[in-house]
Amino acid sequence: MKITTCRTLLLTILLLTVYQSIAQDRAYVHRVVSELASPAMHGRGYYKEGDHKAAAFIAGELTKAEVIPLWDNYRQSYSFSINTFPGKVILRADGRKLKPGRDFVINPANGSVDALYQLKWLPDTLTKSHSVYAIVDTSQLAGIMPVLPKKLGETYRSGLKGVPALMQIDDNIWWHVSRRQWPSGKVALKVHPDAIKPGTASVRVKAKAQLLENRPAFNVGGMVRGHIQPDSFVVFVAHYDHLGRMGNEAIFPGASDNASGTAAVLDLARYYAANPEKAYYSMIFLLVSGEEAGLLGSRHFVENPPYDLTKTRFVINFDMVGTGSQGLNVFNANANPLAFGHLKKLNGQYEWFGELRERGASCNSDHCPFHQKGIPAFFLLTFGPENRHYHNIYDRAEMLPFTRYEQLFALVTTFIDNLPQLPWQTPIAE
Ligand SMILES: [Zn+2]
Repeated sequence: MKITTCRTLLLTILLLTVYQSIAQDRAYVHRVVSELASPAMHGRGYYKEGDHKAAAFIAGELTKAEVIPLWDNYRQSYSFSINTFPGKVILRADGRKLKPGRDFVINPANGSVDALYQLKWLPDTLTKSHSVYAIVDTSQLAGIMPVLPKKLGETYRSGLKGVPALMQIDDNIWWHVSRRQWPSGKVALKVHPDAIKPGTASVRVKAKAQLLENRPAFNVGGMVRGHIQPDSFVVFVAHYDHLGRMGNEAIFPGASDNASGTAAVLDLARYYAANPEKAYYSMIFLLVSGEEAGLLGSRHFVENPPYDLTKTRFVINFDMVGTGSQGLNVFNANANPLAFGHLKKLNGQYEWFGELRERGASCNSDHCPFHQKGIPAFFLLTFGPENRHYHNIYDRAEMLPFTRYEQLFALVTTFIDNLPQLPWQTPIAE
């Protein structure tokens, strides 16, 4: 055996040993994502209680992992209002039916509508929304729907003052959710340029909207008790909710966002439950809802924590972690420079990710409510060209490779293993 071959073999054995002792479970993670992103979960939104079905599934997984429930049935309940589209959402252009979710979306704040509009195509050269008013007389818009070019930005999201109905042409058909409903008569659509010919004369829009007020929602969580400092906590958090369905045709599966993070946290729960000696501090596995509606689940948790929140040593939030060929975004890195320095050192040592990208403290996911309470928190988000689907109907389980899953698991568990020894790891002021 040549020396180089021998060294390669030794290195392979060493790496295998590292990964085996780390014991992440890729097959389990794929299974969880397939389940959560399946049509039976209705996109984990509000249509046919998709989010409640997901909560029951997650509680079942925590039960099987035999972690300690944080609440009865592992569930913390709260409520919020949300606008939904329980029936059909129909758009016909000159009589031809467009496919919801693929060809168009309706603004999630839209109320019910059943109307025919004559289209008024505005020039492609428009770049400022106020210049619309030079072309359009807002007192003459009854039954008229102006069609706006993509360059006007997210006009479809906010609508235009004095313009009751509008269509925006955009090749990025993605959706979001709304807790409010617009007054009746106001309509905004986003339509893919391949789905409607310029010069199309009229559209018929039909949608039934339903504002669900104070609808019940659930955070789901369990714990493995720490064997050295059980009264200090590490929180692994991910949101399991997504957008649900826009009408009964368009489903937003949310495999990347955020079945991927949910699966990672459930895998960590199984790992710490099977290796309790690894839990120096108590480990919390928290799957929150209401993220897409404005971080509502994580906000509810920090306002109503099941333990003394000031005893939290660190929070790791996983949101969209199914790629990683190019690296890992670490949001809040700037806010925790020493912790980020350590994370970078570990990554440099083991070369888990090509790049750890240092990101600022943006309030774009569930780490934010913890951070605002003064608790050190990172938000991890993988990046790479292997999956860029975001908030669309293509964000499906089979599109998600989990390119660097073993590396992500190793990075996080090693960082948490090292946490008690880090010199900056002082108790949080009480
Ligand atoms: Zn999202």
